[in-house]
Amino acid sequence: MTEPLFFAEYLPDTGTTFMLTGDEAHHAAASRRLAPGDILWLFDGRGGLARATLGQITKRGHELALRVEERRTESPSKPSIHLACALPKGDRQSVLLDMATQLGMTQFTPLMCERSVIKPGARGPERWQRVCLEACKQSRRVYLPDIHEPASPAKVAACHHGAWIAHPSGVAVGEMLAGASPDALTLLVGPEGGFTEEEVRQAVEQGARAVSLGPAILRIETAAISLLAVISLGPWNAG
Ligand code: SAH
Repeated sequence: MTEPLFFAEYLPDTGTTFMLTGDEAHHAAASRRLAPGDILWLFDGRGGLARATLGQITKRGHELALRVEERRTESPSKPSIHLACALPKGDRQSVLLDMATQLGMTQFTPLMCERSVIKPGARGPERWQRVCLEACKQSRRVYLPDIHEPASPAKVAACHHGAWIAHPSGVAVGEMLAGASPDALTLLVGPEGGFTEEEVRQAVEQGARAVSLGPAILRIETAAISLLAVISLGPWNAG
């Protein structure tokens, strides 16, 4: 599938004509320079895909008539990965969400820790959604990550039994890959000031296990992305 991919919340039926409007239409006409007759794909962020032919372009590229040729639904990739991560500063939040989505994150929880300095702003979730959407289009992942309310490490560990908490005292990554569920994984990554010993103790009490990323102290997003990378290239996805 090399044709470009665009987001549409509700996918039309095969054989119907559909008007793509707003930012996605503008992106298709202006940035991707699609022309009548070109083929493109629509996805709904819940696994639904539609292949369509571009017809008329109107409203100076803000309205595109599409004829839907084919509809299908893709299964979610496994394991589903829930990243519960302390927020890095400013633009680094976008870097985190962008890369994590490309690497298969399916759920994101902003982790509120005792040493958290960065709190989610009112417009954070809306911005993160946009970043995740662009990352889905870029990486051709048709499941848009769910963004949850902020939560503490103990709460996330209690709701997701068998979570992994990134901490230098933990087991090696290989051990995590050998012991983790191939269906669903939850990863906890702490703030720049690190988790407190009490937070680690509480998470472990709720069934979490600590995993180490080696002797170097990594930034929040580097730690999160390293974990996602080893999982997305892990034993379940070989080949
Ligand atoms: N100031 C802290 C480091 C925090 S780094 C300290 O000196 O310990 C931010 C988060 O990234 C940590 O809470 C941890 O979850 C994760 N992290 C960074 N480096 C790591 C490593 N080598 N192993 C496991 N987790 C790591």
